[in-house]
Amino acid sequence: MQQKKSGKMAYILFVISAVPLLFCGIVILFLSTEFFTRAMYQEIESELHGAANNVIHMMDLAYPGDYTLVGDTALSLFKGDHDLTTEYSLVDRVKEDSGFEVTLFYQDTRILTTIRRENGERLVGTSAPQLVQKDVLNGGEAHFYTNTIINGQEYFSYYIPLRNSDGSIVGMVFIGKPSSQVDLSIRHASYPLVVAVVIVTLLIILFLYLYTRKFDVVLQKICSFLNAVSTGDLTAELDGIVLKRNDEFGSIGRAAVNMQQAVRQTVEQDPLTELYNRRAANRRLRQIMERSEAGDTPFCVCLGDIDHFKAVNDTYGHDCGDEVLRQVSTVLRDHMRLNGFASRWGGEEFLLVFDRMDMDQAYSSLNLLLDKIRRLEIPFEDKTVHVTMTFGLTPGEHTDHTTLLKNADRKLYDGKAGGRDRVVF
Ligand code: GH3
Ligand code: MG
Ligand code: MG
Repeated sequence: MQQKKSGKMAYILFVISAVPLLFCGIVILFLSTEFFTRAMYQEIESELHGAANNVIHMMDLAYPGDYTLVGDTALSLFKGDHDLTTEYSLVDRVKEDSGFEVTLFYQDTRILTTIRRENGERLVGTSAPQLVQKDVLNGGEAHFYTNTIINGQEYFSYYIPLRNSDGSIVGMVFIGKPSSQVDLSIRHASYPLVVAVVIVTLLIILFLYLYTRKFDVVLQKICSFLNAVSTGDLTAELDGIVLKRNDEFGSIGRAAVNMQQAVRQTVEQDPLTELYNRRAANRRLRQIMERSEAGDTPFCVCLGDIDHFKAVNDTYGHDCGDEVLRQVSTVLRDHMRLNGFASRWGGEEFLLVFDRMDMDQAYSSLNLLLDKIRRLEIPFEDKTVHVTMTFGLTPGEHTDHTTLLKNADRKLYDGKAGGRDRVVF
């Protein structure tokens, strides 16, 4: 249940970061293509404008003089003394060089043009669109259009007024490029931009996904650790990856581990002596038994009991008895630190486990301990108290938990019966 919650959080985190990003990506894509298209339109306008001026200039160079209409019924367009009516070579050359369609109008009528009908005939004698007549012929201004329909086809077009030397408008020059071609080249030119925006957006989304996945993994680890602790597994370990983090997750992880240690201490430590209590001793003993079985290593178990402890209580009081328990426990803990562990089994009785030690090693270690206890001076009020202990030692291997403790207890009993202050095995 908690694992699902954690996954859900990562999902929400991903969605609230990825959706605005996706939206931004789309807006950027839209704006940049719009901007790009406009820039392309401007470029085409300036190309067409240049070509139109070029045509006028070439006409003036090739055929000096003004444009005049000559004849009564069959009219011909002259420039200077040259009949232009069928003089297509110049417009054809411009088309060949630039790829643009070219038309020369007398007033609003096409005289010379590179545009052809489907049957191959040139589109001469037809009129310019109404809007063009109004803007260019009547308005006297050059004009750029992005959607002029000529002969059923849409063009990007540029119309420039054609003037005689007195400034009067006699016609127009048209330069045009089919819209389909323009669209195609815009599309081709904008592909890299579109692809770049899409790739960058997708990469950021992928990064966000991986980042939130990482969040998810960390949250899952913290959740399962807390689950384990809450179900009583006080030895559960939290992954070092979480603990090493410098963010809030790292803090939560470290706090969780501290909490686990505090709980563990409360549950496993004897408050008076600060030794392991019986519950922890049983858990540690089982661990050592398992490890010994798996690795075939020896271990020994010992029950120790303070001799005539009741007399200490009776003679010096219960507080003195407590102090004796504390001091004896310190000696036991220090002595067992490198040998295994010591625990308070109950009252004035202690369980010692010698890990990875055989009986000989444990026996000599216990004799040293016995001596330390004998020499221990416990100051209480204005007196110094001395105690002795009796230890019952038994080998740990090849025995079950209960029998092991029973054996150690029997040896302890033997020691008491034999006169106390000794190690019996
Ligand atoms: P033996 O040598 O046979 O072990 O004799 P003993 O007097 O040590 O044993 P006995 O079992 O007769 O008495 C143990 C005493 O330890 C009785 C009990 O009141 C005392 N005791 C147990 N726990 C505590 C404790 O936490 N503090 C103090 N002060 N006394 C305790
Ligand atoms: Mg005793
Ligand atoms: Mg006892």
